[in-house]
Amino acid sequence: HLNEIGWNFDNSYARLPEPFFEQVQPEPVHSPKPVIINKSLAETLGLNGDNLETEEAVNVLAGNQVPDQAVPIAQAYAGHQFGHFTMLGDGRAVLLGEQITPSEKRLDIQLKGSGRTPFSRRGDGRATLGPMLREYIISEAMHALGVPTNRSLAVVTTGESVIRETKLPGAILTRVAASHLRVGTFEYTRRLNDIEKLQELADYAIERHFPEIIPNEDRYLAFYEEVVRRQAKLIANWQLIGFIHGVMNTDNMTISGETIDYGPCAFMDEYDPETVFSSIDVQGRYAYQNQPAIGQWNLARLAEALLPLIHEDQDHAVELAQEILGKYQEWYHSYWLTGMRKKLGIQNEEEKDERLIDDLLDIMKKHRADFTNTFRLLTLGKTEDTAMNESPEFKQWYERWQQRLDRQELSKPSAYQEMKKVNPAIIPRNHRVEEALEAAVQNGDYNVMERLLDVLSDPYAYSPEQEEYTTLPAPSRLPYRTYCGT
Ligand code: AMP
Ligand code: MG
Ligand code: MG
Repeated sequence: HLNEIGWNFDNSYARLPEPFFEQVQPEPVHSPKPVIINKSLAETLGLNGDNLETEEAVNVLAGNQVPDQAVPIAQAYAGHQFGHFTMLGDGRAVLLGEQITPSEKRLDIQLKGSGRTPFSRRGDGRATLGPMLREYIISEAMHALGVPTNRSLAVVTTGESVIRETKLPGAILTRVAASHLRVGTFEYTRRLNDIEKLQELADYAIERHFPEIIPNEDRYLAFYEEVVRRQAKLIANWQLIGFIHGVMNTDNMTISGETIDYGPCAFMDEYDPETVFSSIDVQGRYAYQNQPAIGQWNLARLAEALLPLIHEDQDHAVELAQEILGKYQEWYHSYWLTGMRKKLGIQNEEEKDERLIDDLLDIMKKHRADFTNTFRLLTLGKTEDTAMNESPEFKQWYERWQQRLDRQELSKPSAYQEMKKVNPAIIPRNHRVEEALEAAVQNGDYNVMERLLDVLSDPYAYSPEQEEYTTLPAPSRLPYRTYCGT
């Protein structure tokens, strides 16, 4: 009956040569139960969302049964983790295959937490319920916010305990991605010292993500340029909504330009560029303000891996790659500035716009204003509710902004309407996410999470139901800490 679910796998990655992956079966689990299924995503994949709840379908999502057409593999990759090169690979994930959707898209279907693989090192290959639900909530919220991201099709519990500091309920997340190719996949391949393999991987990535550059003479350079551009755009997107990824290692940076690895990420409340949530990021390497520069650092690692393909003459290859990497700053800045203008309802361009933006951010920082709510309240014309309203510098700034809005054709009411499209009314606030996870994991109550997912599914709606989700955490909830790999 698996056909009734709608699986339509192809396995192009498994047709690549051996060193890129290991064939591996997911390890069966004791008693899988679905706890959340993404029916609307299922539909776009060509799957029947209702049938996904059947025992047979859940067995697939739990790794107990592999559909006939699937060729399960663990992918090999490497990565710079906090600056240090490491050989990695899928240690607790299995790629079932690529689902070909009704609109002819090819999307990876991966089980995360599906047991040990040849890349597990000392890990158990498993995942726990809280973090898998957290990834589900945040990745789906990111998608709704309009940020490129891998998505979440389902979470099933395994009926088994996973040993961490304490015993925790095991779970498996089904992750859907444009691909799982990473900067680290290229770093791994470069280490093989086999240029043919490197070229094979690059050709694969180009065909999958940038088919339009296939005819280019300098296509590996063009490939590099496309990845750099997409990452510049992605990270600008993160900055514009106050998203802190938390673990921007090169193995967690995709070639497709999607956000991946929702371990220690979190949204910023009070605006402070130095914000770090991850408990292990003691140096603040992946702080909010460092994200754009870390993106560039990671892309330099990609350039190093690609050099043999870029030009025969390696010195010249370095020059060519550097020229593109040098444009990253400019591209990032331009995406960011365009985005910030929109956040302030500005449609035409004036030289001094950036000053206006920077000054607002400075005032927000000084008054520890909430990032999301500041832009939300500006959008609603409710500046009296901001933390900064009484300060003379904000009053002055507000006047400048109003005058700026007068200097464009767009009427003010229309400007405020436009602002609603880019300033979310709500984000997955840390205390609300925690509350949903607590109810689910401790009490088996998924209603809190369902409601949260529902309001997050249209973050620009400004609906009455969203109001209560805009409130800040109690001071006792701060500072918020996140943890990787549980
Ligand atoms: P991350 O920090 O999430 O990017 O993971 C880094 C590496 O650790 C990846 O290769 C993961 O597959 C691996 N890993 C994380 N948790 C486990 C686990 N419980 N068992 C085996 N491998 C793991
Ligand atoms: Mg990772
Ligand atoms: Mg992770």
